[in-house]
Amino acid sequence: MTKINYTNAAIYNHDAQDFEANHYVVVDTQTGKVIETGEGNVSNAVQVDETVDMKGKYVMPGIMNAHTHITSIPTYWWHDGEEDRHSDSREFNTMYAIQNMKDAIDNGITYIRNVGAAYDIDIEIKKMQEKGMIKGPKVMTSGRAFTMTGGHGSGSGHEVDGVDEIVKGVRTAMKKGVDNIKLMVTGGVLKNGETPDDIQFNEDEVRAAVVEAHHKGKTVAAHVQGAEGVKEAARAGVDTVEHAFNIDDETIKIFREHGTTVVPTMNAMYAIYKYGEKTVPEWARRKVIVNIEKHFASITKAAAAGIPIAMGTDAGTPYNGFQSESAYEIQLYVDKAGMTPAQAIDTATINCARAMHVDQEYGEIAVGKYADFIAMTENPMDDISVIQREKDVYQNGVNVHRAVTQVEASAQTETEMEAVGR
Ligand SMILES: [Zn+2]
Repeated sequence: MTKINYTNAAIYNHDAQDFEANHYVVVDTQTGKVIETGEGNVSNAVQVDETVDMKGKYVMPGIMNAHTHITSIPTYWWHDGEEDRHSDSREFNTMYAIQNMKDAIDNGITYIRNVGAAYDIDIEIKKMQEKGMIKGPKVMTSGRAFTMTGGHGSGSGHEVDGVDEIVKGVRTAMKKGVDNIKLMVTGGVLKNGETPDDIQFNEDEVRAAVVEAHHKGKTVAAHVQGAEGVKEAARAGVDTVEHAFNIDDETIKIFREHGTTVVPTMNAMYAIYKYGEKTVPEWARRKVIVNIEKHFASITKAAAAGIPIAMGTDAGTPYNGFQSESAYEIQLYVDKAGMTPAQAIDTATINCARAMHVDQEYGEIAVGKYADFIAMTENPMDDISVIQREKDVYQNGVNVHRAVTQVEASAQTETEMEAVGR
């Protein structure tokens, strides 16, 4: 059992909405949890085995991302005239997942909620991560997403129609071990022949899934874009609405009544808008161009109204992967959704933990919670973009990634830039 005292750091506190200077955090590497934290020096009650001086470091909880697709990669949709190098096979999807897991943890993402994985691969990936067989963030799983026959995500999803099939499907997914149920309630961007406004599951179907999931203490995430779909899903009691292009006053009222959290995934839209002109299919990019302003205004409205926002990127969509994009999503909340830097950090930490029902053990640097945190050399309060830079990453109190210095980085820059398209 090793107790490490990370001392002399500026540590983020969501109650203070700021980093607090001259703080320490003592972790027990056997349990992976924080056993003491505070200002100045560690108390005499704690026998410390090792002290690490964190002078000049800004420390915040590890990034949590509530909307990822680990079996997808950002280049899947590119049509660059070359031979198709991707495949929908189980083997390719598993390989992508393992690489995405590594990218995520190396970039400070310490917990993901995966909301749709081909072949239910996230269930096995979670086990591999827990056994230490692969490097990566902790995983909250959904298995395959539920969709109506021919609906959004039907390629890799689980097609169900009507209350009876939904009930059977949700119970089967929970038997397999999923932590969360993902429902495609409306159409979306990355499928031809449908629009974000199309209602796909009706309210009875959504409510049936919610009742079954909640009976077993599981959460429900709903892909919803158009105005009516968002309202329907919130009324039916889903825990989180994903994307949400058209939040209006009535929607805000429904969210308040039902305690709904919004997961914006703004970078999914922004990346296609900004980089997808020659590579993303035109039918998909059209839908982004038509909806992006409404989407950003919708999230701005929800944030201003005090609706809980949990950070999610939709990682795996074009130009939107598992590297710096999560931290960029946080910047978009400041630049395009009117949040303060502290509010934006909260979306990716404490708000995610609450939305995922893991806030007893995650989401802040506090006694009894897992010591998952990142350390930066610059202050995100002054410039939110610093979270996107190289940083030290700690998982269960142990350093799992060291910030790559500039000399080392120059060799890597090209491939990373190629991967994210910026
Ligand atoms: Zn998604």
